[in-house]
Amino acid sequence: MYRFVIVGAGLAGCSMARLLAEKYHEKILVIEKRNHIGGNAYDCYNEDGIMIHQYGPHIFHTNHDDVYHFLSRFTSWIPYEHHVLSKVNDKLVPMPISIETINALYDVNYDEHQFEEYIQSVKIPKKEILTSEDVVLSQAGIDIYEKLFKGYTTKQWGVSPAELDASVISRIPFRNNHDTRYFADKYQGMPKEGYTKMMEQMLDHPCIEIQLQTDFQQVKTKLQYQTLIYTGAIDEYYDYAYGKLLYRSLRFEFETHPQESYQEVAVVNYPNDEAFTRISEFKKMTMQEHPYTTIVKEYPCFSEEPFYPYPTIENKKNFIPYEEAMKQEKDVYFIGRLAEYRYYNMDAVVKRALELVETL
Ligand code: FAD
Ligand code: UDP
Repeated sequence: MYRFVIVGAGLAGCSMARLLAEKYHEKILVIEKRNHIGGNAYDCYNEDGIMIHQYGPHIFHTNHDDVYHFLSRFTSWIPYEHHVLSKVNDKLVPMPISIETINALYDVNYDEHQFEEYIQSVKIPKKEILTSEDVVLSQAGIDIYEKLFKGYTTKQWGVSPAELDASVISRIPFRNNHDTRYFADKYQGMPKEGYTKMMEQMLDHPCIEIQLQTDFQQVKTKLQYQTLIYTGAIDEYYDYAYGKLLYRSLRFEFETHPQESYQEVAVVNYPNDEAFTRISEFKKMTMQEHPYTTIVKEYPCFSEEPFYPYPTIENKKNFIPYEEAMKQEKDVYFIGRLAEYRYYNMDAVVKRALELVETL
């Protein structure tokens, strides 16, 4: 008999396990269907000895003091500020949009004032910002939209930004200064020995037991527990009673090259010409020294492996009956990207865990 069973050993599950162990001092079982902990933030060394992120590049950033302090109990950090370039024709221009993007794209040298004038002349004011297309057009106009956002977003999600919720592209800031960092958060960095190691430390507690390669669907009738914490896909939990929810997935192509460096920065986006959306070079984030380098190309697709909740306006409605069902549950709590069907960053998931455990 367990006090808690936690489904999923991603960041949501690991944070919940540790926080509950410290609050209740009672037996907790974490079950994970993959053969490793870490969820989508899992990292490991590949056969060439280079640290990779198996499910795409993960950069930690947060403005929450409590999240940073909680995670810092389980890891120290490599200082790292993320920079992204986007390939437009033969140019590499900084993302997100800043004065430097415009200067690089149009071969100009605007100051703040000239930039402001330029933006005023191109932006297309919208009465209401409903879609991701509205977000870009109202901030930066049609040319920026077409060169940097339309192709990338259409590849990433398989539909036009005009069909996507405004929150998708709003994740990326729009800056009227020279700051070319991808994130402006107070805390930014990479866990010194990786995300998996950090989560291993979180689970290293006498109250916590872990079972890998165990699917909740297969064992749920045999488990005995008082409270369930569920971080898997919500439609699966309810046996698809209200229909299948859509998730976007990714296919990763890893390549190791016999050279120290592959590209200028950790991530280069390819909004237009290639089938992949971006190339990430791990050593540029982890600061590992190695004579070779590993990169990954991301090809968006639909598959059995759910990664992103699918953020079309239409599809969000399909989540509503599940949300209602979740509210009726007693002694079952849902948390995480898949369970809450929300496009959460890592820090938001940890924040949710801190808040949830506080209220239990
Ligand atoms: P997950 O990591 O998905 O963990 C859920 C776990 O539950 C999985 O291990 C799964 O196998 C397990 N599970 C599911 N169903 C069952 C079942 N039935 N039985 C047992 N186990 C089950 N965030 C950032 O902050 N910065 C970034 O740079 C960043 N980059 C990202 C890049 C990509 C390509 C993706 C896809 C996401 C990125 N994220 C990033 C988001 C980050 O991955 C998530 O916020 C975080 O992983 C969410 O943790 P989670 O525990 O909710 O979900
Ligand atoms: N996006 C874009 N062009 C870019 C980068 C991002 O159009 O060069 C859009 C795309 O729709 C993406 C969203 O902005 O899904 C959010 O970008 P982010 O980098 O946060 O995506 P993630 O790392 O979560 O995949």
